[in-house]
Amino acid sequence: MILTTHAIVGGAIASLMPSHPVLAVGAAFASHFVIDAIPHRDYPLRSISISHGHRNSFALSKPLLWDLGIIAIDGCAGLALALLWFAHSSTAIIVALCAIAGIAPDPLQFAHSLYPREPLKTLQKLHRWCHTKRQLEWLPGVLSQIAFAVVVAAIAVALR
Ligand SMILES: [Zn+2]
Repeated sequence: MILTTHAIVGGAIASLMPSHPVLAVGAAFASHFVIDAIPHRDYPLRSISISHGHRNSFALSKPLLWDLGIIAIDGCAGLALALLWFAHSSTAIIVALCAIAGIAPDPLQFAHSLYPREPLKTLQKLHRWCHTKRQLEWLPGVLSQIAFAVVVAAIAVALR
């Protein structure tokens, strides 16, 4: 799933258990692996790859800057939507932390490509095992993620 979807799910989890921050952050982190198992479509990156054995680098290039820009927009949109939909003045910090925890396994894949050692190695194996092997076509891949995020948000709002 894209980072926005992961952040929304993380924010929804925070809204359901704001008085249990450690549990909420752990559940948000774990949710990443669960929802990555759902068939979906990820956007292509030009220079960053998490394919097996690929080693990324920080050598500045236009494709890398493009990828970082797309990732930043995706992550910030997710964080903003999670805060907008689930946060109150007293829960903004836990909602933000859970949105970030929901996103975290993906940047940790990038970290693994730079530093392929434990505990990132085991986390990467888990991520690969959980992640769907089925990429949807563009339209159903995008629409299903929007529908999934809206349904999760609606359920979380209804349960509060
Ligand atoms: Zn992932």
